[in-house]
Amino acid sequence: MAQAQANIGVIGMAVMGSNLARNLASREGNTVAIYNRSAEKTRAVVSEFPEAGFVASESIEDFAASLTKPRTAIIMVKAGAGTDAVIEQLTEVFEPGDIIVDGGNALFTDTIRREKAVRETGINFVGAGISGGEEGALKGPSIMPGGSAEAWETLGPILKSIAAIAEGEPCVTHVGTDGAGHFVKMIHNGIEYADMQLIAEAYDLIRRGTGKSPAEIADIFTEWNKGELESYLIEITAEVLRQVDAKTGQPLVDVIVDQAGAKGTGAWTVQTALDLGIPVSGIAEAVFARSLSSKPAQRAAASDLPGPSSEWTVDDADAFVEDVRQALYASKIIAYSQGFDEIVAGAEQYDWDIKKGDIAKIWRGGCIIRAQFLNRITEAYDENPGLVALVTAPYFTDAVSQAQDAWRRVVVAAAQAGIPSPAFSSSLSYYDGLRADRLPAALVQGQRDFFGAHTYRRVDAEGTFHTLWSGDRTEIEAVDTH
Ligand code: NAP
Repeated sequence: MAQAQANIGVIGMAVMGSNLARNLASREGNTVAIYNRSAEKTRAVVSEFPEAGFVASESIEDFAASLTKPRTAIIMVKAGAGTDAVIEQLTEVFEPGDIIVDGGNALFTDTIRREKAVRETGINFVGAGISGGEEGALKGPSIMPGGSAEAWETLGPILKSIAAIAEGEPCVTHVGTDGAGHFVKMIHNGIEYADMQLIAEAYDLIRRGTGKSPAEIADIFTEWNKGELESYLIEITAEVLRQVDAKTGQPLVDVIVDQAGAKGTGAWTVQTALDLGIPVSGIAEAVFARSLSSKPAQRAAASDLPGPSSEWTVDDADAFVEDVRQALYASKIIAYSQGFDEIVAGAEQYDWDIKKGDIAKIWRGGCIIRAQFLNRITEAYDENPGLVALVTAPYFTDAVSQAQDAWRRVVVAAAQAGIPSPAFSSSLSYYDGLRADRLPAALVQGQRDFFGAHTYRRVDAEGTFHTLWSGDRTEIEAVDTH
């Protein structure tokens, strides 16, 4: 039996697990136990990174024995059945008070189920969303742990030691109980989808509207990255656009097949939003835009469908680029506002005490949507924790008011030019819907009452009403159904 000497263990030595283990090993005071189903991968990691001083095991029993108590193990294996298999093995060798952390991309409802099952054994189970990809895992990710307060006591200092640092603060907080961490990680990914789609639409509009080359547009993004749009995604967009293909000498973006992939977290965000009744239209359009791009047969069949009959030209390229920048900022505010609405609704549904300002804070570093702008979100929630919609906070109201004329011009231009802008357009529609005094939902209620006697409420009286629509009545009769 191995001697208990490691204070933390990592299971799963693929790219994420090995990088996270190396990150842990690089921090003062940590000795890291590692284990992987296939032992050759564990051996390869040990020989490649001798400086990490890993305590390697080739059986789950030895792995457990190599950990000091309370034993703490982070699972970084294939989400789904792989995670369930490892949890089952660990619950056999761990004891009450020990901690199992799932750092994979689990669906939050799976985490709720797993936490409940593991808790019955007396072992703590923590679902932790980890964002930042392989580089984040190695150098400092943004970490969103759920689970019990008891587990957080042991785990908190360890996770703080490996998380990204933003403005002096580690990008990790105890999000809430059971599945709260993976829920918030899911929303992070949904927002990431929207952010990426909006940036892609901005690029497309500028390219097709002004004829600028990808390299020239890269310079525009670099410039934008110095202002309110400053973020990791804007920064890498400039790099992607500047990249030249070694084989053809063309801009790389022109030789990449235009079909976007997805691993499912965006779809989860939208599916969950539908269940919660939260309109996350920006995120949904981003997910659907990837789906549309990945339908080559339909796209080929539709490629001869007519576009606008009159030609669209941009008179002032600089002014158009500035309009697009403003439209991007306003749409981005909407995407985040919608994402936080889903967090609020999820917290209510699952009884999580999620501090929205703290979530924005831990997204400032390490993760894919890291951005300056997140400070504004923290400030908005610090000022008013009960904020009903992020976009109604004074800073964001000002920002959207300033941008809205440009935003409208861009959406009109996109429609006139026949350039798809689903995220820009839907975000603007959402904004106009939210601020409308009166919506045509009144008519929808009338239709529902007509065909299904679904009833409606009146603006001038309490109660629920139904109109007797049929027969030869000329007079419309409202009936209080109570
Ligand atoms: P992966 O390709 O998702 O999974 C490979 C690892 O899972 C290997 O260690 C493999 O062991 C193990 N595994 C698979 N099925 C298993 C089973 N039934 N029992 C035991 N072990 C099993 O690895 P990854 O790309 O490093 O990702 C790990 C986790 O992090 C995943 O949940 C993934 O979704 C998440 N992830 C997150 C990010 C992020 O940015 N946060 C990025 C990428 C991945 P063998 O070597 O024995 O096959």
